[in-house]
Amino acid sequence: MEARVRGHGLMIRSKDHEPWPTTRRPRSEAMLILSWGQILALLLLFVRTAIVGLANSSCSGSPLSAQDCAALSSLSLHGHITFATATSPASSSDFGRIHRRLPRSILYPSSVRDIASLVRAVHDTSSPLRIAARGAGHSVAGQAQAGDGVVIEMGSLRGIKVSEGKPGEQPYVEAMGGELWIDVVRESLKYGLAPRSLTDYLFLSVGGTLSNAGVSGQAFRYGPQISNVLELEVVTGNGEIVRCSPVDHADLFFAVLGGLGQFGIITKAKINLERAPQKVKWIRALYSDFKAFTRDQELLIARPKDSPNSFDYVEGSVIVNNNHPSNEYKPIPFHGQTLNASLIPPSAGPVLYCLELTKNYDEDESATIDETVSSLLAPLGHVPSLVFSKDASYFEFLNRVHDGEIRLRKKGLWDVPHPWMNLLVPKSKIEEFDALVFREILRKGINGPLLVYPLDKMKWDSRTSVVMPDENIFYLVGMLRYATPSGVPSVNSLVDQNKEILRVCKSAGIHLKQYIPQLSSEEEWREHYGSSWSLFLRRKLAYDPKAILAPGQNIFAPSSSTLKLSSAL
Ligand code: FAD
Repeated sequence: MEARVRGHGLMIRSKDHEPWPTTRRPRSEAMLILSWGQILALLLLFVRTAIVGLANSSCSGSPLSAQDCAALSSLSLHGHITFATATSPASSSDFGRIHRRLPRSILYPSSVRDIASLVRAVHDTSSPLRIAARGAGHSVAGQAQAGDGVVIEMGSLRGIKVSEGKPGEQPYVEAMGGELWIDVVRESLKYGLAPRSLTDYLFLSVGGTLSNAGVSGQAFRYGPQISNVLELEVVTGNGEIVRCSPVDHADLFFAVLGGLGQFGIITKAKINLERAPQKVKWIRALYSDFKAFTRDQELLIARPKDSPNSFDYVEGSVIVNNNHPSNEYKPIPFHGQTLNASLIPPSAGPVLYCLELTKNYDEDESATIDETVSSLLAPLGHVPSLVFSKDASYFEFLNRVHDGEIRLRKKGLWDVPHPWMNLLVPKSKIEEFDALVFREILRKGINGPLLVYPLDKMKWDSRTSVVMPDENIFYLVGMLRYATPSGVPSVNSLVDQNKEILRVCKSAGIHLKQYIPQLSSEEEWREHYGSSWSLFLRRKLAYDPKAILAPGQNIFAPSSSTLKLSSAL
C-alpha cells in the first residue's frame, strides 16, 4: 500500500517494503502534525479506495480487466452502469436479429456528463474497450452493438422541448439523442407543429436516424432529416461536449450528420418544425409500366411546395403480380377496399408498381379535397380505376407503420430476422435495375415491403458524411424483408440474394451506394466513400482518434493501421 499527499512530504509505506523514514515519530505524534487538509485528503482517498473496491466487486464475474473495471466503476454518474450484461439481452441485439454481440458493460445515462465521463475514461486509458451508443436498436446488422465493449442505452436520457418561436421566426424542437421520433411528433403536434422530414417508421431514435440520413416520401421536398437540423450537442470520441451548428464547429456538425456514429455521440438535436396539416388524403395508384411509374414519380417530386398541383409525400413500391389468396395485392387497397385483379392489363409483367402519395389539407378544405386530388391524378399514367384513397389524420398517417408492426407482432412476425438492404440507385440506371432485379431476381417478391422512390440531391447537404450516387436524382430501393419462423427461405439464402443483387449490379456497371451500409472490409468502406474517404479519415482523426465509437459499423479496428497511417498525412 502506498499513499502520498503531494506537497506536504507525508509518506506512508507498507513496512513490508520499506522502513519508516528516519525521522519516524510515534504514531500519535505523527497524527498530530497532519493538517486538517491532509486528514481530509486521506479520508477522501480512503473513501475512493473503498468505492473502487466495492465497485470492483460489482464487476467481478464480468470479463472486464481489473483496470477497465476500476475505470468504469469509479465513474461519478447521475445515471448508472451495469456489468450484468446478460440480463439486458436487448443491448446485445437489434431489429435484424442476425448478429448478437454481448457487451461487457451497459451505461444508462441520466445526463450528458455521464456520457462524456465514460468516453473520457475510456479515451484516457490504454483500454481496448469501445463504445456504442444504442438508440432504438433498429439496426439490422449489429451497427449499435459493442461486443466486449460498452453500450450506452441512449433512451435513458430523455427530454423534448418545443419552441414556437416569435412571429416570423422558425419554430423548432430540441430533443435528446435517445428520444424516439414518435415522441418528438406527439409533442410537436400539441403545438400544431411537426418535423418537416420524417422516416416511415417513428419508433427510431433521433440520434440513430441522424447518424444515417432519415428518409421518406417527404425527403424530396425538405431533404432527409439531416437536412433539417439546426444545431447538435455532441460528445466526441475525445470525451468533449461540443455544441455545433452550420456556423459553429461546422466541421463536426456536418461530420456527425450521416456519420454512422463515428465522430461523436449526439446527445441533443435542434430540429426545425413546420405547421402541421390537420389531415391528409392518402392515395395509392397502381402501375403496370415501370417507365410510366418513374416518369410520374420524377414529375411529382419536381413540383415546388407552393404549387397548387404538388403532393406532400411521394413514395412507391414494387409488388408481385400474383392473384393467389396470399397475394401481394393486399398492401395496395386500404382497409375495407378490394382490388379488382381483372383490371390489371394482360400485358403486365411479373411485378406491378404502386405510387403512394398524400395531399395535406385542413378541415375547412374537406368539401373540395376529392376534386382537387382527382384533377391532380388525372394526367398520371397509372392503370385507370386502380386508385385507392382514404382520409387520415396527420398523426395516423405519420404513424402508419406502427399499425403494421402491431399486426406483425400478433402473428409473431416482428421479432424475426430481417436481412434488409437499402440501396441508392442513380436515375440513369433505374430501368436497368428494374429489369435485372425487380423483374428478375426478385420477381417472386421479398416477403416484406420493396420500396422504390426518387430523391433529389439538391435537397441534401454535400458537407455531411452521407454518401450518395453521382447523379442529381437517385432512387431509394428498400428491400425490407423478413425471414419466416419456419425458416423457409433461410436467412442465409436471403443474405446471399442481397449479395447477388450487389454483384449483378456491379457487373452491369450500376454504380449504386448502400444506404445504412453493411460493409466489413476496409476496402469496401474505401470504395463506398470514394473521393470523400480522406475527409472521412481526417474527421475520424480529429474527433475520435482512438476509434472508440460505434465499433459495430466495422469501419475501424482498435488502433487501426489506417488511422495511424492517415495521422502521418
Ligand atoms: P440504432 O440501431 O440504435 O443505432 C444505429 C447506429 O447509430 C449505430 O451505429 C449507433 O451506434 C449509432 N447511434 C445511435 N444513437 C446515436 C447517437 N445518439 N449518436 C451517435 N450515434 C448513434 N430509415 C430511414 O431513413 N427511413 C425509414 O423510413 C426507415 N424506416 C425504418 C423502419 C423500420 C421498421 C426499421 C427497423 C428501420 C427503419 N429505418 C429507416 C432505418 C433506421 O433509420 C436506422 O436503422 C436507424 O439507425 C435506426 O435508429 P435507431 O435509433 O434504432 O439506431
